[in-house]
Parts: sequence; structure tokens; C-alpha cells
Amino acid sequence: TAAEQQFEFKTEIKELLHLIVHTLYTHKEIFLRELLSNASDALSKVQFEALTNDNLYDKDQPLEIKVTLDEENKTLTVEDTGIGMSRDELIKHIGTIAHSGTKRFIKELKENQEKAANPELIGQFGVGFYSVFMVADKVTIDTKSFDAETPAIKWESDGLGSYTILESERRKRGTAITLHLKEEENEFVQKFRVESLIKQYSNFLPFPVLIGEDTINTPEALWRKSKSEIKEEEYKEFYKTATNAWDEPMFWEHFTADAPVQFTSVLYVPKSAPYEYYNQDLEHGLKLYVKRVFIQDDCKELVPKFMRFLKGVVESEDLPLNVSRETIQSNAVIQKINKIITKKFLDALTKMAEKEEEKYLEFWKQFGRYIKEGVHGEFNLREKLLPLLRFHSTKQTENPVVTLKSYAEHKVTDQKAIYYAVGESLDQLRRSPHLEFFTRNDIEVLLVTEPMDDLILNSLEPFEELKFINVESGDLELPEELKKEIEEPEVPETMTQLKDKVREVLQDKITNVRFSKALTDSPCRFYNEQGGMSHNVRRMMFAGPS
Ligand code: ADP
Ligand code: MG
Repeated sequence: TAAEQQFEFKTEIKELLHLIVHTLYTHKEIFLRELLSNASDALSKVQFEALTNDNLYDKDQPLEIKVTLDEENKTLTVEDTGIGMSRDELIKHIGTIAHSGTKRFIKELKENQEKAANPELIGQFGVGFYSVFMVADKVTIDTKSFDAETPAIKWESDGLGSYTILESERRKRGTAITLHLKEEENEFVQKFRVESLIKQYSNFLPFPVLIGEDTINTPEALWRKSKSEIKEEEYKEFYKTATNAWDEPMFWEHFTADAPVQFTSVLYVPKSAPYEYYNQDLEHGLKLYVKRVFIQDDCKELVPKFMRFLKGVVESEDLPLNVSRETIQSNAVIQKINKIITKKFLDALTKMAEKEEEKYLEFWKQFGRYIKEGVHGEFNLREKLLPLLRFHSTKQTENPVVTLKSYAEHKVTDQKAIYYAVGESLDQLRRSPHLEFFTRNDIEVLLVTEPMDDLILNSLEPFEELKFINVESGDLELPEELKKEIEEPEVPETMTQLKDKVREVLQDKITNVRFSKALTDSPCRFYNEQGGMSHNVRRMMFAGPS
């Protein structure tokens, strides 16, 4: 017909499709979870729209998801009465990759087969709708928007190179997605199999899911139940439903507060840190609900930025239902919730660090850099965050178990500083000539390997009157007694000639050449005249964005 139109998929989508179909095939069934999750999102959106929109199309439709199986024609359909899509939205949402990190991710997967074989990694990126092509060789989307004036529209594709947009006869609000299953995918038209999958995926979806006339799940808000009634398994399952995660969380905290604001929250710490730490746009993981209505994913205002690794749900009775993205930013209730969550979560971490060291180190291994980021960026939280820092040191090379406090307790007489060395790896640091003097004199040195460590430590106020000093520094502020040990020694004439030679060869690459007794085994070291940038900060500043 005249309205029929064919489009090519963008290159990156073709690549993504190829990757999904060829790397995730051992987890094919997840397509169903992705479809249920999209349907549920669409229902949440229309529920939110209904709060303010009197002209909602098909306003009396029950909010639900229907799954239909047709054994004869080998099709599976997931239909919702959600927000629907216009033609433009359909082309935009199904035709492009939303996540900013995805392109780079695809590139890396292609280059690194080992990574590609790890489905959890891919799961982090939410493969989403395209996962349907693992089991289907043709997929149809038929959708009618919540806006009465917007015509219904149809989309069809074999998931290879192109898709077609067609006219639609659909009258009902919402979206029906029909999968024409591949020859070998019989299991997904078997009611028994599909029902058990839906049970697994939809226990904590906020809307009913039906096969035919049977409702398969009991929609409930886990966070509203009292803690003592919730089983560990339920928390884990809710995590998967609420965050689209594939694996289990590392741990979680379920908090409720009544004053000064009412809210309840379930916060999860994932098992591993997001793949892309340096991507500052990476989504925050908290969903906001008000009086049972879903308001927003990715709510940045609920926690300080460095806590963006948290996933889960926050619901409050004290917010108006008509809060919008714009008003959330300046909303006083949200700010109070943020304060309380931050305090409670950091208190929980502090307790864990004291009582369950191993568990805390597990957390530190994955999320330590976020805590450091907090130390750097959240001045008001420093007091709470400093005791959470963990370091390797010259005396603790196995595990990062050194705290600033334990360091201070082990200082030598008159020690005025906390010494730290920055390098690319612990191995490299262990061989560093800078450490020889300290080891000889039994002074502990913290060993750090992250590019930002130097900047952060450098910017800290003295801890228990101990200044933070990089061992590369020209002025180490040593205890009086040890100063003598590294005084520039008297040297014979031939050695002075050597010094002149070094100066001549290195010329403008250096500012000074000095003899020193600091070294034990190494012939020389590059030190950093007071005030200059340390080599590590230099490396970071001139490396540019990767
Ligand atoms: P994500 O859910 O992470 O955004 P998906 O690939 O699962 O990624 O879906 C892409 C987009 O397509 C969604 O964000 C949404 O805008 C749209 N979409 C998918 N399924 C539906 C649906 N059933 N109803 C309305 N919109 C949908
Ligand atoms: Mg999705």
C-alpha cells in the first residue's frame, strides 16, 4: 500500500542484533522478561499520564499484560494496554540505540570474545527489545498511542537488515508484539513452559499478567511489606524484576522512615560495579514511586552522585503525584529523602566495615572508587567517608585492609605525614625505588593505583594532624631524626662530574640533580621538587579522554 515504507537498520543495530543472536543463545528465554518489562514500563507511563490527562484514549481499559500462545501458527503475543507509540516514536525507539555506552560496548565485545561470552555483562546494558530475534524470525509490533488523534501503526521485521512500517487497524490503546517463532523454538508456545517463565519474571511486576483468562502473578509492592515477612529469595527476585539484572545483588538495605518525611526504600548494591565507571552519564538506578504510582526511572536526585551505583526503589507518601522531572530537582521532600538515605546507607556500610570485614572488602573491591569519589566531591560527608577508605600498603600487600586510623596507630615516633605511593600496579609499586628509604626505616607507605588517587589524597586535610605526602615529593617532612639520613652527602670530585653530566644530558627535562642516601638498592630515582605536579597527576591530565 501507499503507506508501506521500508527502512534499513542503522549499522550499530545490525551489529547489536548479530551479537545478541550469536552470544546470548544460551539464555534465549530472557526475551520474555524484556517484553514483560517493556509492557510494564508502558503501563506505568500511562498510569502516570492519567493523573493529569483527562482525554486519555481508551481511558477505561484495565492496566494489564496479556500473553497469547498460538500453537498452530507458532506465534507468541505480548499485549499491553500501556502508553502505546506514535509512528515517530516507533521509528525512534525501536530503530536506535538509547544507551550512550552501548556503541563502545559493542565495539569492545567484537574485539574481546571472552567478554562477549559473559552474558551478565551484556545484561547490564539491557539488550531489550532486540532479544526477540533470538527466538523469532519475524516480529510484528502493532501499537496505538494514548493520544486519541495519533493513528495506530504497525512495524514488521525479520531482524536481519531492515524493517517495514505499515498501516494498522488497531483500535485498542497499547501495544501488541507478536513473535513468529523459529522452527526449533516450539517450547515458547507451550503453555506450561511460558507460564513458568512468566511466574519467574513477573512476581514483582506491578501489573497483572494473563494467559488467556488466567492471571499468572500477584502484583505486589515488595518494599511495602514488613521486613520480617520478606524472604531472602524474594528480595533477590525483586532485584531482577526491578532492575533488569541477571545476577544476584551483593547485598541490600531496606529502610523506612516516618519523620521528618515518610518514605520506604529497598536499595541494592549490585554484585559488580558498572562496566563503565568513567561514563558520567551512566544512569542512576533508583526508581521513584509516589503513593504506589511509578513516577520516574533513573532518579538522580535521590542520592548524591557518587552513590549512583545503587539500584532499587524509593516510594514516598509525602510527595505530590504531579511531581515532574523539573520540580524534583528543587523539591524539599526529595532533598530530605536524599539526606536520610545517604546517612542510613553510609551507616550500614560503616557497620559492615566494622563487623564483617570480608563482606566489606568485597564491596570495596567493586565500589571503592565511588567512595573515593565521594571523599573528593562531598565535603560534608568526608567525616563519614574517610573511615570507609581502604588501602594496600607496604605492610599489607595482600588485601586492602589499611585504614587511615590503623595507619596513624602504626606511625613511627615523630612521624608527621601519611606517606603514599602512586603507580600503575601493585607489582610496579613494590619495585619502586621511592620506597626503599621508608622500608629501611619501618615507615608504612600506602600503595594506590587509580589515576584519581593522587588527586584525592593530595586534596585531603591532615588526618589526625598527619599531612598526606606523596613519596615522590622533594620535601618529605620527615621526623628530625631521619632527616639526617637523607641529607645530601659529601661526594668525591668524580661524582660531582657525574652530576654535571646528568644535568647536561637531561637538560630541560629536569629541574635539579641531587645526591641522596635515601636509596638502598636502586642507583637513582626521579623525585618531585616541592610544588610540582606528581608524575601520576601529569599522566592523568595529559592522557586526555580515552
Ligand atoms: P529500554 O526498555 O531499556 O528502553 P528496549 O529495547 O527494551 O529498551 O525498548 C526500547 C524502547 O521502545 C522503550 O524505551 C520504549 O520507548 C519503546 N517500547 C518498547 N516496548 C514498548 C511497549 N510495549 N509499549 C510502548 N513502548 C515500548
Ligand atoms: Mg526494555
